[in-house]
Amino acid sequence: MQKYIMALDAGTTSNRAILFNEKAEIVSQSQMEFTQFFPEPGLVEHDAWEIWETMQYVARRAMEKADASYKDIAAIGITNQRETVILWDRNSGKPVSHAIVWQDRRTADYCDQLILDGETEFFKQKTGLIIDPYFSGTKIRWMLDHTEGLRERAEKGDILFGTVETWLIWNLTGGKVHVTDYSNASRTMLYNIFDLSWDQEILDKLDIPAAILPEVKESSCLYGETDAAVFGGPIPIAGAAGDQQAALFGQTCFDPGDAKNTYGTGCFLLMNTGETPVRSEHGLVTTIAWGLDGKVEYALEGSVFVAGSAIQWLRDELRIIDNSPESEVLARKVPDTNGCYVVPAFTGLAAPHWDPYARGAVLGLTRGVNREHLVRATLESLAFQSYDVLKAMEEDLKQPLGTIRVDGGASANDFLMQFQADLMNNKIDRPACVETTAMGAAFLAGLASGFFASKAELKEYRRSGAVFTPDMEDKDRDDRLRMWHKAVDCVRGWAKEGE
Ligand code: ADP
Repeated sequence: MQKYIMALDAGTTSNRAILFNEKAEIVSQSQMEFTQFFPEPGLVEHDAWEIWETMQYVARRAMEKADASYKDIAAIGITNQRETVILWDRNSGKPVSHAIVWQDRRTADYCDQLILDGETEFFKQKTGLIIDPYFSGTKIRWMLDHTEGLRERAEKGDILFGTVETWLIWNLTGGKVHVTDYSNASRTMLYNIFDLSWDQEILDKLDIPAAILPEVKESSCLYGETDAAVFGGPIPIAGAAGDQQAALFGQTCFDPGDAKNTYGTGCFLLMNTGETPVRSEHGLVTTIAWGLDGKVEYALEGSVFVAGSAIQWLRDELRIIDNSPESEVLARKVPDTNGCYVVPAFTGLAAPHWDPYARGAVLGLTRGVNREHLVRATLESLAFQSYDVLKAMEEDLKQPLGTIRVDGGASANDFLMQFQADLMNNKIDRPACVETTAMGAAFLAGLASGFFASKAELKEYRRSGAVFTPDMEDKDRDDRLRMWHKAVDCVRGWAKEGE
């Protein structure tokens, strides 16, 4: 009997490998950062080779720490930073250039043009997404446009496209398997999430040859086996999902209505809508949660660009805290923010406002506002932004959401979690193990390989660590929300030229 499932978590700044045992407990892990390239303001790139090299390193290291060989690993599950684009040569296996990362804004002008041309509904009806440089499609087009001869090579079938999980599976299998899963395909802006096919009309519009696209498979199924050269022998690769969808799965949000919010660099609120895709009228995106057991299930998603990174701003730019946990200590020293509101719209506002021209601001300053108030107001801004996404979701669904499951680095902050429960007037449930993204990948691979028997069994492995119950007067909540929205109105359109 094999002892472990190995989750490979390909994040934006680091790669991690975690070995889980048959009770979904962490046995060993290893993590390594890789280089972030910022060639110009607003541009973000990765070296795809470095992603592959560091992932191999951490996987071997995690195996060593558990004294495990390939024979001890029942299957590998992969979860990844979504939307990031890699193109490589099918024959040599070499990437044609650096990967363009999801945060990269280089296609903003092209996206603006598509919006001006009235293409918003066209893309939304097919992909469930809004037109934004965030998604892969326009980045692929940019690469094909900016490398001499690349489109011709792509048309001949010599070039392959993949998001990070596709790239890793290709390399893990020694260049034999070119696949993605439904959740990752749904973030490319090229995939019709209703018909479940790559959309030829979109490909024509963006001038992207279909020959570069991977085959789309379920999120929990056997994609292939690792080449013997990688880990000394074959290990089945049996699970893949984008990081936010994997976290939804790791939080065992298996039923329609189940929702989770991740508090990392940004915030990502996803709710399972089952086999019914819900089209948003309130600035959210419709996405595929996963393909499993012959079915595709959907999620509604709202993202906030700046969340935990606002706490890093307090630490690194304002230098008024030494580390992230100190934000909680300071926030608790004052009973409120003394009328101060922070809107951390450093890169514009995402869901549900979608204002790329909004910029950050501190409002309501009076002579008595001090460091503690400012820190508290910044922490509260994470909760206010998540509240706005939750309300948009409730309006789309025309019903209130139940308990919200939380994870991500900033979910460790008890002050923030209590304030979130108070604002949302909802219970907040934080699991004992907050490694939900890796757990989701392990669950998907474990189900396909028979290591885990069923979703019912998995529910037993997600243990609640803390539950935060709302405790705020309605009037208090309403007053704070009214002032927050007034603050948001103040920052809209700030950076628009000529205004
Ligand atoms: P990511 O996966 O996006 O890199 P993580 O889930 O690792 O993010 O979370 C890291 C983020 O959480 C950082 O931005 C950090 O400032 C924030 N963070 C970590 N601990 C705390 C805390 N106790 N209070 C507030 N923010 C925190």
